[in-house]
Amino acid sequence: MNNIYLFPTNVQLAIDMITSSDENIVDLPATILSITPDVPPYVYVKTNKHIVKTKLGKLLTRHGYTNGNAKILVENYKNFNSNDFITKLSREFVKVYEHPLYSCGSTIQSCMTGMDCVSVYTDYDENIHLFLIYKEDTLVGRTLVRLDKKQYIRLYIDHNFITPDKATEIVNTAGYEVGTLLGLELALSYDYDNRIICPYLDGCYYVEVQRDSLLVTSSGISTSINGYIEECTCGSCGCNANEDDLYYIDGYDISVCASCLDDYVYFNDSYYHIDDCVRNNSTNDLVPEEYARNNLIEIDGNIYWDIDDCCSTLEGWYLVDDCVELVEKDNDGNRYAARENAIKIIEGDNLLGELTNMGLQPGWYLQEQLDELLTEN
Ligand SMILES: [Zn+2]
Repeated sequence: MNNIYLFPTNVQLAIDMITSSDENIVDLPATILSITPDVPPYVYVKTNKHIVKTKLGKLLTRHGYTNGNAKILVENYKNFNSNDFITKLSREFVKVYEHPLYSCGSTIQSCMTGMDCVSVYTDYDENIHLFLIYKEDTLVGRTLVRLDKKQYIRLYIDHNFITPDKATEIVNTAGYEVGTLLGLELALSYDYDNRIICPYLDGCYYVEVQRDSLLVTSSGISTSINGYIEECTCGSCGCNANEDDLYYIDGYDISVCASCLDDYVYFNDSYYHIDDCVRNNSTNDLVPEEYARNNLIEIDGNIYWDIDDCCSTLEGWYLVDDCVELVEKDNDGNRYAARENAIKIIEGDNLLGELTNMGLQPGWYLQEQLDELLTEN
């Protein structure tokens, strides 16, 4: 025996029907666990200690429904669970979408209800159809299907007439497995404002604008519930992109795509084009050239370093590693000199015997300093 879980919306509908004809009605007990599709239907109700099986009609009368109203509700339930559903394939997208249906298991109405934009399904790929489920003359379920792939996309139903499980079973029995819209092409058409018409695609897909169609892809321009797509272009490479996916670069007054954003360096809350940046060799980061000129030390033309890595010498800036500490500051007051410009006096150094004999401290000197000492002595 299959137990079918009552869908809350359906219970509510039943209550609404009854209460509209009788003012002294109490709510259905919230303790109903499940209900069988048998005739008569049985209900499993949770009590303090046990789960009790009872006839639906009996349960309703016990909870204050009149015999007449209980009978109506039982009939309504039996109709709901009967199997006389009719299925149809259709390409009348606009007409079918006028009828409000709900996403399975949800109280959210399909956002494309009543939207003319679904017309773009009609004119390109003839494999795309609507699979429709009717209960007598009432449309109670629909899903897009791809006949060539034997796939259905997303089911929308009227919960008052069919359960999600039943709808899925019907679609599966008809030979469709759940699939996607990827790779599908839709007609390319424009509205009066020259916007590209495109429905919101189930599964949050993107589209690419082709010469005469819209191709459903996994990246590109995202579809929206407005029924059209906002086509924007990257100010750098010119690719089509969703407005939300473009980055505005303030200093350059340009909007670029994520891939072109790689050409910009983010520094102190702003973006700078890499052509306007130089490398800080101390940190290996790209920094704006203007910043480098004002804050870093330039050595050997266009090679920038942090000031901590550099020494000021008589001949200008040198890297710390290329400098030696002088025994005495030079005439400009520099403590350091470039190794290539300095001479080392070693204790007992015969080559410079004359100077060492004068009691000169060993260490690094500039040639000028030695010359001066020689002149003085
Ligand atoms: Zn770009």
